[in-house]
Amino acid sequence: MKTLNLPSPAEKRIALRVTSAAERAIKQGHPWIFESAIVDQSHAGRAGDLVVIFDKKRKFLAIGIYDPNSIIRVRIVQRLKPATVGVDFFKAKLDAANQLRAPLRDTPPENLTNGYRLFHGENDGLPGLVIDRYAETYVIKLYTPAWIPHLNDVLTALDATVLAERIVLRLGGSLKENTFELNDGMLLKGKGLEGAIIFHENGLCFEADPVLGQKTGFFLDQRENRARVEKLAKGKRVLNVFSYTGGFSVYAARGGATEVVSLDASKPATDAAERNFKLNFPDSNIHKTITGDAFAEMARMKVEGQRFEMVIIDPPSFAKKASQTDAAINAYQKLTKFGLDILTHNGILVQASCSSRVESEVFFEAIHIAARQARRPLKEIERTSHALDHPIGFKEGEYLKCLFAVVA
Ligand code: SAH
Repeated sequence: MKTLNLPSPAEKRIALRVTSAAERAIKQGHPWIFESAIVDQSHAGRAGDLVVIFDKKRKFLAIGIYDPNSIIRVRIVQRLKPATVGVDFFKAKLDAANQLRAPLRDTPPENLTNGYRLFHGENDGLPGLVIDRYAETYVIKLYTPAWIPHLNDVLTALDATVLAERIVLRLGGSLKENTFELNDGMLLKGKGLEGAIIFHENGLCFEADPVLGQKTGFFLDQRENRARVEKLAKGKRVLNVFSYTGGFSVYAARGGATEVVSLDASKPATDAAERNFKLNFPDSNIHKTITGDAFAEMARMKVEGQRFEMVIIDPPSFAKKASQTDAAINAYQKLTKFGLDILTHNGILVQASCSSRVESEVFFEAIHIAARQARRPLKEIERTSHALDHPIGFKEGEYLKCLFAVVA
C-alpha cells in the first residue's frame, strides 16, 4: 500500500468552547459544529487539526477535526470520553461498522452481496468519510480536506480490517484536485483498474466504475428497494425512470417483468444499464433503454399512449440547499403526475427521494396530494427508509425514503 506524503495534524490541539445549544447538540450525538456556534477558540488551525471541545465548566466534551474553510467548522469524531485519534482509534470505528454489516455477508452463495457501504460518514462516527465495497475493491471518498492529514492512518486501519485487493480514492465536497498530490480516482492500493469492477448484489451481477461513476460508482443505498421491486414485478411492463446503470431494471427482470425500459439523461448510464442487463440475462430481449430527459420522455409516452404496470421514479437530489425545498417538492409532484399518466389501473408507483431537506412525511404527503389532484388516489403498499449499511446517526442523516403504492 502507498504511504502518501501528507501533512500531519498540528501537535497542539485547538481548544474550543461552543454555545449552550451546541453543547446540548453534541451531547445528543450531533456530529457538526457550525462556525456560528463557536464562542471561544484557542488559536487558528489548518484542515485536519484536532479540536478538543470543553463545556462551560471546562469539562471535556468531544474531539473533532477542523476545517477552516467550511461553515461546518468542526466534525466530531469522539464524544464524552477522551481518546487518542490514530490508527487504533480508526480501526475500532471501522471494526464496529464492519460488524454491523455482517448480516449482508452472511447469505447463501446464490444471494451473494459483496457491494455495500462499509462506512457511512457521520452515521458511523467519522463525519465526511465514506467507504464503499465493490467485491474486493474499496473506495474511500473524502468530503472534507480535514481528512487529508489522517488519511494514512485511516488507510492502515482499513487494510487491517478488510481484505482489500484494491483501494481507490474519490474526492467529494469542497476537495479539489491536486491537493497534496491527491487526485479523484487515484489508486491507493493494488493493481490499476481496466474498466469497471463486477460485483454482486443479492446474487445479481453489476458493474461499477469507482473512478468515473456517480457517487462511488453505484447507488448502493437502493439495494433493498430494488429487491422489493423484484417481488412486485411479475408479469408487468416496467418503466425505470432515472435508471442510472439499471439497478432496478435488472431486479424487475429477475422478478418476472415482461418488458423493462430504463430511462436516464446520461448516455454512459444507459450504456452501462444495457451491459448490466446482458450480464445477468444474456439471452433476454425484454430490455430497452432511452437516453433523454425524464419529464420530456414521460410526456411523450403519455401522448403516444404507452402504458406501464409499474413505474419506478428515483431522481437525483432536488434540494441541495434549504431554499430549494419547495421547488424540490413541486418537482416530485410533477413526477408523480407524469408517472400516473402512464400507469395502468392497479399499476404500481415506486417513487423515491434522496433529498435530506425534504422530510419523509412531507414527501409522502406531497405524492398523495399530487395523486388526488390527478384523480388517481394511491393505496400504499409500503413506505421504506434506510438499509443497514446506511445507518441513520442524526436527523440530517436520514435522506432516503420511498413509497410503494397501487394506483386507482
Ligand atoms: N435509480 C438509480 C439511481 C438514480 S441517480 C439506481 O438505482 O442506481 C439519478 C439519475 O438521474 C442519474 O443517473 C442522472 O443521470 C439522472 N438524471 C438527472 N437528471 C435527469 C433528467 N432530467 N432526466 C433523466 N435522467 C436524469
